[in-house]
Amino acid sequence: MADRSSVSQLFAPPARVSDGSFYPSHGSYEKMYAQSLENPEAFWGSQAEVQIDWFHQFTQVSDCDLASGMVAWFLGGKLNVCHNCVDRHLSIRGDKVAILWEGDEPGDVRKITYRELHREVCRLANVLRHNGIRKGDRVAIYMPMIPEAAFAMLACARIGAVHSVVFAGFSAEALRDRIQDARCKAVITADEGRRGKKTIPLKRPVDEAVMACPTVEHVFMVRHTESKVPFYEPRDIDLGEAMKNERPYCPVEHMDSEDTLFLLYTSGSTGKPKGISHTSAGYLLYAMLTHRYVFDYREDDVFACVADIGWITGHSYVVYGPLANGATTVMFESIPTYPDAGRYWDMVERHRITQFYTAPTAIRAIARLGDEFVKRYDRSSLRVLGSVGEPINPESWNWYYNVVGEGRCNIVDTWWQTETGGIMITPLPGATHTKPGSATFPFFGIVPVLLDDQGNEIEGNGVSGLLAIKSPWPSMARTIQGDHRRFAQTYLDPFPGYYLTGDGCRRDEDGYYWITGRVDDVINVSGHRMGTAEVESALVSHPGCAEAAVVGFPHEIKGQGIFAYVILKEGFDADAELIGELRNEVRTHIGPIAVPDQILITPGLPKTRSGKIMRRILRKIASQETGELGDISTLADPSVVELLIEKRKGL
Ligand code: ATP
Ligand code: MG
Repeated sequence: MADRSSVSQLFAPPARVSDGSFYPSHGSYEKMYAQSLENPEAFWGSQAEVQIDWFHQFTQVSDCDLASGMVAWFLGGKLNVCHNCVDRHLSIRGDKVAILWEGDEPGDVRKITYRELHREVCRLANVLRHNGIRKGDRVAIYMPMIPEAAFAMLACARIGAVHSVVFAGFSAEALRDRIQDARCKAVITADEGRRGKKTIPLKRPVDEAVMACPTVEHVFMVRHTESKVPFYEPRDIDLGEAMKNERPYCPVEHMDSEDTLFLLYTSGSTGKPKGISHTSAGYLLYAMLTHRYVFDYREDDVFACVADIGWITGHSYVVYGPLANGATTVMFESIPTYPDAGRYWDMVERHRITQFYTAPTAIRAIARLGDEFVKRYDRSSLRVLGSVGEPINPESWNWYYNVVGEGRCNIVDTWWQTETGGIMITPLPGATHTKPGSATFPFFGIVPVLLDDQGNEIEGNGVSGLLAIKSPWPSMARTIQGDHRRFAQTYLDPFPGYYLTGDGCRRDEDGYYWITGRVDDVINVSGHRMGTAEVESALVSHPGCAEAAVVGFPHEIKGQGIFAYVILKEGFDADAELIGELRNEVRTHIGPIAVPDQILITPGLPKTRSGKIMRRILRKIASQETGELGDISTLADPSVVELLIEKRKGL
């Protein structure tokens, strides 16, 4: 099979990014990386001492044994994550903007300083305390992207309650399952959310969900759209009113390093959502360090991660990482296409945003609408452009780099997972020469390895295998809520001594890492194993292809055949000629073996709410086994499934 990376371009870090960056050359990264592996205890221990404000210093850096499921960091230490994100900045950054909120309407802006943040978080924490929420209690947060959502997360951290943020686009049923699984004692919500002029009901689905959740004692509601919604006293509490009755001071709970900070259910691309559990010190340290070095964060920057707080990206890079570093973090309530496809860049211009972090799905969605929407705005403030969530096709990477970044910005394609807590494989601005489509190299202290099916490490370069992590790191998940056995079975038991990621990966001739897709999605054509990402990228390199999703389906001769779902750009027709061209694109980029047996042109694809393609469903449709589609509660638009089933019949 042709190696896509061997023909790919190498981009040196733009001068503007290298100047004054933390790691101004690849050599400086390599030196620090080597140090972090030589003596991990010394590396992580000294980082934790310097970066975290401790109430009581830890006595042991780590106690980990992956084979037995034991992971603990900074043992004996006492800290509070909210104190580290808020209180400790007050003396030096009290008047600095902590949260820069942009609402659904462009220009609807709120700026919250660290001092204001402290007061609001204290008030909210007092409301929770006075309503019986104690250290260790679980609190569900089902909120739109408004500052109160961050206040709520931080207030939980302050009093030692464990938050479980559920994306505010999920159904009542999905919310109910997650509340029940975590046995939440309270829910924090709003009347409604707003996204692109549409209102999203929140209180109503909460009411519906909570009917079947006897553990929930209170529902705290923020009035956001001020529309009339049902309100059941004394269970329901108007959060804004209640906060007015509370002192803007609330002492912090002293937490153990290993006390749980939050639960977060994974996005559900592959099956039943898992309640991933993260603890306090290790998570905080790793979120801070990655935020600083991966985005080359500096004091006067305006940092924008446009992910929803319902995902891990929103936890680590809207809330905890930036605030722990004392940054100004942007919180964005709307969508990338409201009022038009220029919204992101309009915000970049108005707020002088320096780092911008989004997902390939958003990049593809706006790229297909044309470059004019980008060029209309001044993007000269930008230094670093980030991508996360899926492999980014080289086509989209180039668009991001050239059109959005005008060749002046470093692209950081960051590979990580809910379970890893923070970014694991990524370029560092200033240090890393990038290749479009490759997440490049591991972050400090991270040891990625490629394993074969027997669990042997595959040495050398120019090889592919199962991506695993060989040594523990501070922010790795500790367990799955209520099911430690499932945690072990999923990540640790398959190959004792390794954390198994579930993703396939290639290390190219130069040692660059390329995520090839989920292992469950790997296609085996006549004994050749193929990652979905490569075939999809080949299809997307055709000028008429906006997006592609590829799955395997049973094939009499080859074992598995390749089935491609393709979304076309405006102005292209689904005729035989175009289908032929698409096939040809794959033939020239990868080889005849990867040419799709079937191509189905579609206006949409089944995606999770975080924008990831659900290949699990596409596989069933391709093989016409649509009787049992499994859990589709995390799907953004279930109607597309029916459409595809119909179209498949017609092939
Ligand atoms: P579930 O585990 O419930 O199926 P999920 O894996 O989609 O859901 P997340 O933890 O949000 O939930 O996503 C992590 C996954 O996203 C990774 O395992 C990988 O497959 C993909 N991913 C994230 N970032 C990148 C990236 N930069 N390049 C390639 N793939 C990525
Ligand atoms: Mg996953």
